[in-house]
Amino acid sequence: MTFVRGVFYCPWRHEDFDETARMLHEHHVNVVSLQRAGNGWFGYAYYPSAIKPHALPEGEDLLADALRAFHGLGIAVRAHLAVGNDPAIAQAHPDWLAVRRDGVAARPPEAWDSGSYYHLCPARPEYQAYLLQVVAEIAQAYPIDGIDLDYIRYPWTPAGPYCYCAHCRSTYQDTAGIDPVTLEPGQEGWEQWLTWRAAQVTDLVRRIGETLRRERPGATLMAYIAAWYAETSDRSEVAKIRERFGQDVTALAPHVDAYAPMLYHNYPHEPFTIVHGVGWVGAMTRWIREAGGRPVWSATQVAPRDVSPLTARLAAEVSMTAGSEGVVLFPLGSIATSPGPEIWPEMDKVFGRLARLELADRREEA
Ligand SMILES: [Zn+2]
Repeated sequence: MTFVRGVFYCPWRHEDFDETARMLHEHHVNVVSLQRAGNGWFGYAYYPSAIKPHALPEGEDLLADALRAFHGLGIAVRAHLAVGNDPAIAQAHPDWLAVRRDGVAARPPEAWDSGSYYHLCPARPEYQAYLLQVVAEIAQAYPIDGIDLDYIRYPWTPAGPYCYCAHCRSTYQDTAGIDPVTLEPGQEGWEQWLTWRAAQVTDLVRRIGETLRRERPGATLMAYIAAWYAETSDRSEVAKIRERFGQDVTALAPHVDAYAPMLYHNYPHEPFTIVHGVGWVGAMTRWIREAGGRPVWSATQVAPRDVSPLTARLAAEVSMTAGSEGVVLFPLGSIATSPGPEIWPEMDKVFGRLARLELADRREEA
């Protein structure tokens, strides 16, 4: 068995991937969930796309460079696809944005402060068709090991749930005979509305998975699951994830190969706003493992503002003790909250031990 010793990695715009690959290999990393690889950043592609505007000068191909360097050292490369978040598309098609119950579209500054976060409605058929084109383009052209679906959800803020865009309201009206904006949480009809909403996300994941497997057999699909705003360590948080974000981990299970619940346990700021101990990481790992019946690669926090390297290591260990098949450290690379090299002396203790055990197993088998 191979545990995922992963990193959520956001490369710099111009980066020596050989050096990065050597550094990660030295620290026993075997999987990179590579940001900017899927649909880029701000909606601009970092590979020569026929569909999307380009972020890099002609002839530059970040994804090809990364694949060559990481694969050269045996590190799997998973293309990170920021499903709901695409500022370029949002600006071209503002009517595709998700809409909150009070009518506020999911963009800055009305919905939140983050200037780069525009959340499209995951149920919008035109946007779904566009996403499938992006998946097919990447999977056809690049020997990726898989795709990691991020923002594969509805947005959610304490100010209210989504999505009440024209498409969702009219489609639900046609399906259920009622305008969902008239439904109140906890009252009759609310549960049916939640089921419909989650089914839109599940169906999008199903179609992305079919596209990926058709274009690149053997590549795997992972979904990042949003556990933010959790107030407890109880099993009921799994239902809260569905209610807030439209992610039904039981319904999604036939369509994905793994889940990465984003278990940043101490992040007392926007946009995650969560304060727990490392025990919460273990509890949530277990509940999602049970509800989903799929391997869990917990995305654990290494952001140094709020966790020490020792705590980061404990979070990873607790997750694996609770039944995860590995961890994806969040974040590394060019994200502002990424740690420096101080993280590695502690993380080496986890990743290094796993790597040595796996090597010993392989020798035994041989
Ligand atoms: Zn919508």
